[in-house]
Amino acid sequence: MAEIIAVDQFSQGLKERLQKERKSLGSLKLASLSVGNNFATQSYLSSQKKLAQELQIEYLCLTLGENATQEEVLSQIQKLNTDKEITGIILNKPFPESWQEHVVLAALSFKKDIEGMSPYNLGRLLQKDPLFVSPTALAVLECIDKSKVDLYGKEVTIVGFSTLIGKPLSILLADRFATVCITHIGTSQAGNLASHLKNADIVISAVGKPNLIKGDWIKEGAIVIDVGVGQMKGKLAGDVEFEVAKNRASLITPVPGGVGKLTTLFLFSNLLKAAQL
Ligand code: NAP
Repeated sequence: MAEIIAVDQFSQGLKERLQKERKSLGSLKLASLSVGNNFATQSYLSSQKKLAQELQIEYLCLTLGENATQEEVLSQIQKLNTDKEITGIILNKPFPESWQEHVVLAALSFKKDIEGMSPYNLGRLLQKDPLFVSPTALAVLECIDKSKVDLYGKEVTIVGFSTLIGKPLSILLADRFATVCITHIGTSQAGNLASHLKNADIVISAVGKPNLIKGDWIKEGAIVIDVGVGQMKGKLAGDVEFEVAKNRASLITPVPGGVGKLTTLFLFSNLLKAAQL
């Protein structure tokens, strides 16, 4: 039976560090931009708002209608980039399919891009000289490091290949000398997902499709980090079939109550860094 990764315990130390750091900084303002009314995003927004209050950071939540055009978001980003009161900007996904993600992300000022998704910040990550790194990727690494798992030579399979999670994470893990296998929709559609998971020492899933990963695909003793947040029977649910997987894994994160808690803390850690630039 797997041990549940002690996210609560890890988050406490980080929160205390942020509270201390925040004291020496003046007024701060976070702008959080989202589109429509996505179930998983609502939960992320409420934890952003709660932590902003706790750290006495002004929180500006902007929600565009679900038919918002790319021009509308670009104009909104432009305003936030030049607004001296705004310390950092988050663009909460999902975006409408009609938007060109690379165009939207390129519009972000790299100094306010606290999710590390702009071309400049992704480039710095590739060059092993990161400025802002995806808070979700940092949260996953924290789960691994605080659980005292040595990544060197480990077989890691990542499911999902987004600019926010899968891509930066694959670089960070390879930089730590893990052997990284990246899987995505193509792997799933070819029917090969199970075969890439069965030898993985560490499985990290970031898709947002509940029960995409069957519990019996997990190798005995593997570590399972479930980043996905989807909706099942009106509740938040991860990508991994938790009840079965926990009987095979050695360490596992639940959803809710897992990686997400740390993600919000790393987001604000990046915001404090932006304030100091
Ligand atoms: P995203 O941009 O939609 O990326 C999802 C990725 O999964 C894409 O690469 C997608 O490929 C791939 N995918 C889709 N269906 C798949 C399948 N059947 N098999 C394998 N791969 C598949 O989403 P995101 O922003 O990365 O977020 C992913 C999930 O993490 C969401 O549930 C989100 O709510 C959650 N999230 C959690 C946290 C946290 O801290 N826990 C933080 C942020 C996000 P294609 O694009 O090619 O279809």
